Amino acid sequence: MANHSEKIKKLAVYCSGGDAPGMNAGIRSIVRTALSKNIEVVGIRGGYTGFLEKKFDELTRRGMANIIQRGGTILKTGRCLEFLKSEVRVKAAENLKAEKIDALVCIGGDGSFNGAHALFQEHQIPITGIPGTIDNDLMGTDRTIGFDTAVNTALDAIDRIRDTAASHDRLFIIEVMGRDTGSIAGFVGLAGGAEEIFTPEFPLSLDKVIEKIKKSRERGKNSSILITAEGQKPGRAYDLAEQIRKKTQLEAKVCILGHQQRGGSPTAYDRILASRTGSQAVETLLQGRCDLMIGVRGDDLVEVPFADTFKSRKACPKNLLDLAQILSL
Ligand code: ADP
Repeated sequence: MANHSEKIKKLAVYCSGGDAPGMNAGIRSIVRTALSKNIEVVGIRGGYTGFLEKKFDELTRRGMANIIQRGGTILKTGRCLEFLKSEVRVKAAENLKAEKIDALVCIGGDGSFNGAHALFQEHQIPITGIPGTIDNDLMGTDRTIGFDTAVNTALDAIDRIRDTAASHDRLFIIEVMGRDTGSIAGFVGLAGGAEEIFTPEFPLSLDKVIEKIKKSRERGKNSSILITAEGQKPGRAYDLAEQIRKKTQLEAKVCILGHQQRGGSPTAYDRILASRTGSQAVETLLQGRCDLMIGVRGDDLVEVPFADTFKSRKACPKNLLDLAQILSL
């Protein structure tokens, strides 16, 4: 296996796509691991837009002080639709070469890894990645950085809402993030004792849900919490509340947790995951392997080809939803 430790003199790190708590812990780990091996490090600001606008900043050991506990990303992140065009990626590669950047580490989700894979395939720039998204929807890794924090943030809100739901005998519908996957909804639903969990991948019959609510009211349970992932349309909880009202006369209160789930200080789990994967992303490049994500399975770090991370989307585990159903009866 080729050893690239001699070849890589300057490494760049960037965040891309949606922000996730723990990205800063990842940046810190990548930067300090590289510096400890006498590799210069540059931060590229604002995702792939930064490649095109040459937003390159030198990163230092000191500059990484006091960021491990901060949510968001000091490098900023973003979406750059132009980057989907190969001619635009030619320009990006030229800018990297002009800056003498030998290798890259990407912190992002499946879209960002698609871009990283294209850059490697077309321009042979060695790139590794670490999974940074609150959605936990990447194939090849048990967890993504930010997911644990988002789940705990949502759970905190649900516990508070449960207090008021119980005091007023109310039905609450709480909407959490998750466009294509219901992992946040599933984990939060199980941990928060929700009666029903609506996910994009395992649709529920509303009539059956209503039947269950009616039965639990007959048994004397007067407050209920339903969790829904936002799905393709944020505000879906209002549609559900309206449909329940029409069919049952029951007034459902709606709470949309929204962007607060993205922010806040990362949990210990997310900081540790980001620190471990970030450091390994640098080591793997130095050992001559690239075009892959560092993920986690069980307690072990694993290398997953970028192409396998975006082939399909990881769904919320069905057995978790089934368990939540049994336990909420
Ligand atoms: P995430 O990485 O969190 O999934 P997005 O799907 O929004 O976020 O992707 C982030 C960015 O990655 C996009 O704005 C674009 O710049 C780049 N990207 C996404 N898909 C591709 C693709 N097929 N080819 C090249 N670049 C892509």
